[in-house]
Amino acid sequence: LRDELGRMERLSLVGQMAASITHEIRNPMAVIRGFVQLMRERSPDHLQEYFRIVLDELDRANSIINDFLSLAQNRMIEKERCSLNSIILELLPLLMADANMRGLKIELDLEEDLPELELNEKEIKQLILNLVRNGMEAMEDKGEIRIATFAIEDAVVLQVTDEGIGIPEEKIERLFEPFFTTKERGTGLGLPLCLSIVERHNGVIEVESREGEGTTFTVKLALEPPPA
Ligand code: ADP
Ligand code: MG
Repeated sequence: LRDELGRMERLSLVGQMAASITHEIRNPMAVIRGFVQLMRERSPDHLQEYFRIVLDELDRANSIINDFLSLAQNRMIEKERCSLNSIILELLPLLMADANMRGLKIELDLEEDLPELELNEKEIKQLILNLVRNGMEAMEDKGEIRIATFAIEDAVVLQVTDEGIGIPEEKIERLFEPFFTTKERGTGLGLPLCLSIVERHNGVIEVESREGEGTTFTVKLALEPPPA
């Protein structure tokens, strides 16, 4: 519990700082990106590679800022009764596009007639997207991501399973630490964000992994909020 309080205090402090500067950084970056894009279009072939790198790095900086902002804001969210399956189906075209680009497959295994839940659609999309992208990034260029939903007694369960490299035991406990990443271009903010989204939905998130075989993230979203 003490760890938990410490974590929340840290987040709210970081959140106040982030809220005041992030927006201000995003605007000039959008302008820079626009002009670099224009410069690239008017530049000779031998400079194209440099512009590609500049744009890639700008996009990376942007995703750090966006992830950081989402994590730090820790917003009070508005929830609506809706179906987890329909959120997944809405996200599917985006996921498929990602998968196709990497030569990967996505398999859906959604249980029909799941009970509806109180969800914030935007956040749940972000949760699924983060878990699926992590799965894809663990797989290089072949394999399948499975997205499953099913009901258990008092919760609806979402599972994202990949056939990737897996996670060594000693790293499992660090996964949800802000800035923990093993990727050269990672932010280490995806899973902390997932955790905070799941917590705001009165849920839990668990991970099971075998090195060299793959990983499953399981999110359980309670049907009823806990008593106040
Ligand atoms: P990032 O993706 O930017 O590295 P995350 O918070 O999303 O940050 O993930 C943190 C780390 O957890 C990753 O760098 C990776 O080492 C590990 N990880 C997360 N998901 C998976 C997965 N599906 N398979 C293997 N490793 C994973
Ligand atoms: Mg990630």
